[in-house]
Amino acid sequence: MPKIIHYRDRCIGCNSCVEHAPQYWTISKADGKSCLLGSEKKKDCFVRTISTVEVEANKRAAQDCPVHIIHVIED
Ligand code: SF4
Repeated sequence: MPKIIHYRDRCIGCNSCVEHAPQYWTISKADGKSCLLGSEKKKDCFVRTISTVEVEANKRAAQDCPVHIIHVIED
């Protein structure tokens, strides 16, 4: 299954991912960084498994993230 990986610590809160895929991303009111909804915290990142049809919107979010901290793995 494809996965989204988010290295949240380095997020600058630009909101671009939310604009691309609002059903997956939201900005935290607590610290102004984005949160990957439904994700699980791993050691240094957050991970969410997605289906194939969810890949495209999140790839666009990954491509436009100015600090390159969103990765979509298709396997
Ligand atoms: S696009 Fe990148 S830097 Fe901008 S809010 Fe989303 S994860 Fe953070």
